[in-house]
This record gives sequence, structure tokens and C-alpha cells, in this order.
Amino acid sequence: MKHSPTRIIINTSALQGNYKFLTSKVGQTCQTAAVVKANGYGLGVDVVVPALEQAGAKFFYVAHFAEALTVRQLTSAPIAVLGGLPRGAADDYKNNRIVPVLNTAEEITNCPADLPAIWHIDTGMNRLGLSVNEVSTFASQAKSLPILMMTHFTSSDDAQSSHAAEQVRKFNDCIAGLPKPFQLIPQSICNSSGIFRNENWHRAQTRPGVALYGANPTPETKNPMSPVVTMETRILQIRTARAGETVGYNQTETLEKDTLLATVGLGYADGFLRSGSSRAKLYWHGQPCKIMGRVSMDLIVVDINNLKNCPTPKQGDHLEVLGNHQSVDQLAKDLGTISYEVITSLSQRAERLAR
Ligand SMILES: *Cc1c(COP(=O)(O)O)cnc(C)c1O
Repeated sequence: MKHSPTRIIINTSALQGNYKFLTSKVGQTCQTAAVVKANGYGLGVDVVVPALEQAGAKFFYVAHFAEALTVRQLTSAPIAVLGGLPRGAADDYKNNRIVPVLNTAEEITNCPADLPAIWHIDTGMNRLGLSVNEVSTFASQAKSLPILMMTHFTSSDDAQSSHAAEQVRKFNDCIAGLPKPFQLIPQSICNSSGIFRNENWHRAQTRPGVALYGANPTPETKNPMSPVVTMETRILQIRTARAGETVGYNQTETLEKDTLLATVGLGYADGFLRSGSSRAKLYWHGQPCKIMGRVSMDLIVVDINNLKNCPTPKQGDHLEVLGNHQSVDQLAKDLGTISYEVITSLSQRAERLAR
């Protein structure tokens, strides 16, 4: 938005590079679908979908029907809705060539035979999907075959966990118990992290989301993905506060010495979680500037007192929130959350640029 203190820059070539890298991890017969739910994880589907399509993406996933309609304006590729098929929605899905992911008995019953659909089997999340012991009943009564059988991991981000392998075993056993035509249906199991765990799990299609956008799908090692999001926020004011004075709401931070402070135009209403108070950092020339006191709705105060070998920041300069010195994973850690929440919360009132 015009004159916004915060700008978010989406690096589309990094995004495309990430897509191609994830594609290079799987075999020729495996399709890399792109998960673009929640407005492309907050980056903006208007930028993300055309860039991914140009990089080779031929299948998209969203969570809601309304998201699918928005994405339909941007691509003619198949779009699947993870959130299922609401009552009375079949014609809307059909007319817009949107594929429902069927999660319940009711959805399977209500899905017309001529509406292509995906069956989602719940192998351990206990969240959404058909339970393994009910799938065979529906398979024997099915009016038409699904185009894909899928399941979703609980803990593929945890290299130490054996739960993903257990889930794949359950999925395999479940499908092996179905009538022959169901055993031949293409399968999709892996989210971002799953792709890196076991190549036997790639099957016909993977469904990466967060790794496309630069977060680390393998937290136990160095991030193999390229950063996609840069976020910078403008200094609105600089002041020297005196020893013994406090900073911000509820006086949670008392200064031990005279301190140069910078106030930036970013706050929790921009998705910068309040849990970052007195804890998270912004960066100037690669050096951390600690947040002083509470994160407020539109403002954050940082300590710029101890910067070395670089120009002193001035009013109008921008501090880095996300970029070369602060990854989404690092900021997420300091905010007490995960990269997914950081990027899906990205400010709606920031200036948005793509390059
Ligand atoms: C969100 C989602 C994905 C993508 O997960 P990432 O961890 O972001 O790669 C894949 N499959 C399903 C069912 C999802 O809900």
C-alpha cells in the first residue's frame, strides 16, 4: 500500500528455483503439485501461482472453495480443495473444474460420479480423512474411481520420528485391501518434509507447500531451500532514552544506560507476533537490533545502540525483518512459533513487490 512503512518483496526466481529443486528430488513419473492455500502461504497467489506455473507446476491445492475460485482466475490447471465437498456445492466444483478432496462418508455419497475427486485417507492425524477401516466399504460401493488416493503426514519434519513410516505402512495396507482398480489409482503422500525423507514415499504426486516459500523442510540440517520473502520496515523515529527510563506499554523494559532507540512501523497487526516482545530482533547491516519492550499493534522499538562498523541508521532507513540475515525459521523461533505461521500472517497492509 502507498507509503506503507513495511515492504514485502517476493523473489519469484527463488520460488521457481525451489519448485524445480523439489521436482529434481522426485522421479520422472512423479508430479510436483503446488500447495497454495491461504493465499499462497501469505505470499499472494497473484504472484505465486503464475510463477509456479511458469516453473512447471501443473496441479494446485488450496484449502477452501473460495481460494480455488481465486486461483482459477490465474491458471487453467487442475485445482483441488483439501477442505472437502460441502453440501450443495457439487455443481460449483464441476462448473469451475475444481476437484474436491473427499474426507468423509457423506462427501463420498454426495459426490456425483462425473465430478473427479480425490480420496483422503487419515493414517494417524485423526483430523480429516476417511479412517482406514471404512475405506473398503466405500470402495466396494463407489460410483466412480477417484483420480488420486492421498494421505498426510503428522511429523515428517521430525527426522527422529518413525511415525511417517508407520503411516505409509497403514496407507499401503489399506490400499492393498481394496478392489484391484483402487490399487492402480495414483497416490500422493508427501508434504514438503516428506519429500526429503524417503523416495519410496514420492509415488505419483508430491504436495509441497512451505518449502516452496523458503522455509526449511529438514530442520535437523541446513536449509536446502532458497529464501523467497524479504521484509523490511521503515524507521519512523530515532531517540536517545536515558538510563532508568522504560520503553513501551506497561514499562516492561527498563534501560540500564542511555540508549539509542529506533521505532519502526511494524506491529502485531502486521503479523509480527506480540510474543516477540523483548526477545526477537530486526537487522541492520547484518547486525541484530533487539526489540525493546512490548510489540505494539503498529510499532516496535529496537535497540540500535551497539552497532559496529556500519552507518548509524537514520529516520527513513529500513531494518530487515526477513531476508539474508533473518530467515523465516529463525524469526519463527524467536516468536515462539513455526515458519508456517510467520509467513501466513504476513502483513496485508504492507507494500508488496515481486521481482
Ligand atoms: C498444507 C498441506 C500440505 C503442504 O504441507 P507443507 O508442510 O507446507 O509442505 C500438503 N498436504 C496437505 C493435506 C496439507 O494440508
